[in-house]
Amino acid sequence: MSTTTPAPIVRFAPSPTGRLHIGNIRTAVLNWLFARKHGGKFMLRLDDTDAERSTDAFAEGIAADLRWLGLTWDLTAKQSARTARYDAVVAELKASGRLYDCYETTDELDRRRKRQQARGLPPVYDRASLQLTTEDKAKLLAEGRRPHWRFQLRNHAGDPAAPVTTSIGWVDLVRGPQTVDLASLSDPVLVRADGAYLYTVCSVIDDVDFGITHIIRGEDHVTNTGVQLDIFAALGATAPAFGHHSLLLGADGQGLSKRLGALAVAEFRDAGIEAMAVASHAATLGTSDPIAVFPELDALVARIDLGKLSRSPARFDPAELAELNAKLLHALPFDAVAGRLATDGVLATPVFWEAVRGNLRVLADAKTWWAIVHGDLPASGEDPAFLAAAAALLPPDPWTLDSWGQWTSALKVKSGRKGRELFHPLRLALTGLESGPEMKALLPLIGRTRALQRLNAE
Ligand code: GLU
Repeated sequence: MSTTTPAPIVRFAPSPTGRLHIGNIRTAVLNWLFARKHGGKFMLRLDDTDAERSTDAFAEGIAADLRWLGLTWDLTAKQSARTARYDAVVAELKASGRLYDCYETTDELDRRRKRQQARGLPPVYDRASLQLTTEDKAKLLAEGRRPHWRFQLRNHAGDPAAPVTTSIGWVDLVRGPQTVDLASLSDPVLVRADGAYLYTVCSVIDDVDFGITHIIRGEDHVTNTGVQLDIFAALGATAPAFGHHSLLLGADGQGLSKRLGALAVAEFRDAGIEAMAVASHAATLGTSDPIAVFPELDALVARIDLGKLSRSPARFDPAELAELNAKLLHALPFDAVAGRLATDGVLATPVFWEAVRGNLRVLADAKTWWAIVHGDLPASGEDPAFLAAAAALLPPDPWTLDSWGQWTSALKVKSGRKGRELFHPLRLALTGLESGPEMKALLPLIGRTRALQRLNAE
């Protein structure tokens, strides 16, 4: 008898309170590749429980960023549309007593934490609200207080006021065996005083309802996983598998959190970084494989292996991404770019593309070379006599890749020059630049008429 493992369902769950950045795009790429590799599904879930900071514009921006990267999703949901479902689960948790009402203000909680710290105690919520009588609560409500609701972690042997060490564990797909001591944590608030549900519980309800089999996310959620495993258990659900990847640091070894705005996917795109450079970088960074660029997501699918992810933080260096981008362009076939070049007014040919691609850092550089080949150039003003002699020696049409060699050999004999002295004035006159693609490829593209003008310019 054979048993079949169900196809995985994973989710990428950003909050639409900003655009995607290099930190969370790594999570998205890893989830997407994992789903594709195992024949599973990838869900886009918008964690928009924070009504003040979440916007439709950010949600649309996130979708656009994912589409640009080619990370299409098989299903999608947003938490703000699932309130009725959360109402039902929260009502059950209240009825069972796992969710209990608390009346402390933020100031009161702050003061209590400070007192605990002063006495050398961990700043864990002491469950004082569990001691309140019905009359106490009625009085607090009459004073205008509104309760927030905490989830009672299962960390005691009958007396919630006396927590005992309770290790909750899982075998992490990246980090190996992990444990979190539930007695070291405060009971999490799941419902705010204004009635808003918090991510911690909504996420678990969604993961259960959408049949999520694997949660792949950043290691900033490790402690959360301890709490959420307890919530899965309270809901009578089997928890998914978890994998927590390390977080990114800047090239300087400092945390990225304050700089993430500048590291948005949209910023990279606007700066001319190709989607596959971003995706390849995200998929290979912080793994035991070398950082490398691949032309298609499919080429990355076979390579994804959560076991290859390093547990130590990976460093994100924008210069490395720029380098991958250049490498990608240098190897791209004409067909892959022809449409985009045409939209940009560059009606290129395969020959033009072959000539210039090795010199590009971003695709827009092709436009510069297009203009250099086809446009008007100011005279270089250098070496007019030499250039006039060169013009007179231009080989007959049609020009091929051999024409440059024939021409400069003849010019070498005639002028007695060699090396830089021979080649540099020609490049400068014909392209206006000190360096660039091979002249043997550019010369036929520039053509006789423009070459003569540029060489004979006064
Ligand atoms: N919205 C959460 C975040 O962006 C999702 C975490 C999770 O994957 O559960 O951190």
